[in-house]
Amino acid sequence: MNTKELDKKYVLPTYARGDVEFVSGKNARLMDSEGKEYIDFTSGIGVVSVGHANDRVNAAICKQLSEVTHTSNLYYIAPQARAAQKLVEASGYDMQCFFGNSGAEANEGAIKIARKFGESDGEVKRYKIITLQHSFHGRTITTIKATGQEVMHNYFGPFPDGFVYADSISDVESLLDDHTCAVMIELVQGEGGVQPQNKDEVQALAKLLKSKNILLIVDEVQTGGYRTGKFLASNVYEIEPDIVTLAKGIGGGVPIGVVMTSLKDVLSAGDHGSTFGGNFLSATATCEVMDILGEYEKSGELEATVTYFNTKLEKFYSAHRNLFTSKVGIGLMCGLRVKNADTLSSIIQNAKENGVMVLKAGKNTLRFLPPLTITKEEIDEGFKSLTSAINFL
Ligand SMILES: *Cc1c(COP(=O)(O)O)cnc(C)c1O
Repeated sequence: MNTKELDKKYVLPTYARGDVEFVSGKNARLMDSEGKEYIDFTSGIGVVSVGHANDRVNAAICKQLSEVTHTSNLYYIAPQARAAQKLVEASGYDMQCFFGNSGAEANEGAIKIARKFGESDGEVKRYKIITLQHSFHGRTITTIKATGQEVMHNYFGPFPDGFVYADSISDVESLLDDHTCAVMIELVQGEGGVQPQNKDEVQALAKLLKSKNILLIVDEVQTGGYRTGKFLASNVYEIEPDIVTLAKGIGGGVPIGVVMTSLKDVLSAGDHGSTFGGNFLSATATCEVMDILGEYEKSGELEATVTYFNTKLEKFYSAHRNLFTSKVGIGLMCGLRVKNADTLSSIIQNAKENGVMVLKAGKNTLRFLPPLTITKEEIDEGFKSLTSAINFL
């Protein structure tokens, strides 16, 4: 049986897979099983931030694997401690890290910290967490309930109590009560449609929450790891959250999730844990990714890539105003709103046939999450293919 047949027979049908099988890649290029080449404007949904088959990450992983892969969190793990140092130092915040394996798991950790904080701080037990409409926080039972999208709550109940959805940042205040322990937001909603929040509103919210001793959790699973041009979107928005969650882009393709918090003594030994979290493999990958991207930012190359990509995207948008209504996003987390949502899947399909991979977000957004290390040549080639793809419509 070929891959497609095996998948159909043995893998649960939870994904509507595109009909392509990639077999190798290099930076922003992918090759499929028939030898066709593609430019990847998706980076595996923001995961391979340093590109496919990154030599430095691969070398670091291979070296580590020849020594030790896993010992459990019962013992010290040098690369985990180093990864924590790199993440905290890059953030500029006075925080500590907990390591898990995914974005949803990182958010679960954040919710546990907020709930324990709410239980132990003050006389009234505080448990409510306010999240936003159109948010996305993961696929576990708790994080789908934290996600402010009704379609995600169709099955699987009963859910944990205590999640309340605000229509927007400015509506959060009216929902705060004596039982509220935290507010959890994405600064740029990813899955919801590449929707950046207003900076002044976010700063006002952060200030308000601080004055009320309510925690601000920023879900940076998609925005973190230099995706928005700085290490964290929180750095771009110039706020100091109490808890930050990370995953997608910081492991270079190796599964990892992180909760960072300034609340260093809320959780104690036994309150939380993970078998795999931050093991030698994933933590080594994260250390190398952090080094690569730290140097890439410092040298000005990240900013140059952000500028170049956005200039090309703006040109593409201007040339196709018949199809798109606006250009949205920050850094290398970008989107184009399509005029007619029905055209979105054919754009993505035509793009694939013309050799460029793009994503959908929300109902009507064509989403771009290229590797941060994408070259000018790769960007040029991707937009050339995308232009031919559009001309078929
Ligand atoms: C992808 C994503 C998640 C979920 O991450 P998983 O690794 O799939 O569990 C959570 N929050 C945001 C903002 C995301 O983009």
